[in-house]
Amino acid sequence: MTKIHDDLILAVRDVPDFPKKGILFKDITTLLTRGDLFRKVIDEFANHYKSKKIDKIVGIESRGFIFGSALAYKLGAGLVPVRKKGKLPHKTVTATYQLEYGTDTLEMHEDALTPGTNVLIVDDLLATGGTAKATAELVQKVGGSIVGYAFLIELLFLKGRETLKGHDVHSLIQY
Ligand code: AMP
Repeated sequence: MTKIHDDLILAVRDVPDFPKKGILFKDITTLLTRGDLFRKVIDEFANHYKSKKIDKIVGIESRGFIFGSALAYKLGAGLVPVRKKGKLPHKTVTATYQLEYGTDTLEMHEDALTPGTNVLIVDDLLATGGTAKATAELVQKVGGSIVGYAFLIELLFLKGRETLKGHDVHSLIQY
């Protein structure tokens, strides 16, 4: 393990039983307050993707916006927000996915991408992969071409990678 990898792991705060009992929440706000580490995260992602011809980054509400927008700036790519139902003002495409109890719906503006656009999907954390998979459906509905998925954190025991198979999955730290 490299020093930077260890520093990132140490900078993420574990919050037990949030938002409900039994969940160990990975709080990235403690990492974000460290300018050196926030920059390292974006530099690591940028290095990985700089030759991959990313046209647009699709950031998932809301922590995906933080990493997605900084990376978009660094790569000179556009940024497309994917949001919870009812937040986007123009015409949208929608995808519904399963939660532990019930379902949730994500939306993206239907004119945010054109067919053939090379897209990288970004979020802070990969758990079961349901959120990222629904986001991929949105991209595919408007003909976008998925280059891969980028996450700061991957929770290996939830096997989200299997849900996302078919596209490259890249994470910087794993638990
Ligand atoms: P999933 O769809 O199961 O992969 O869940 C991913 C989404 O839920 C991401 O937007 C994460 O920010 C959030 N999430 C899921 N589990 C956790 C966790 N243990 N700590 C922090 N965020 C989480």
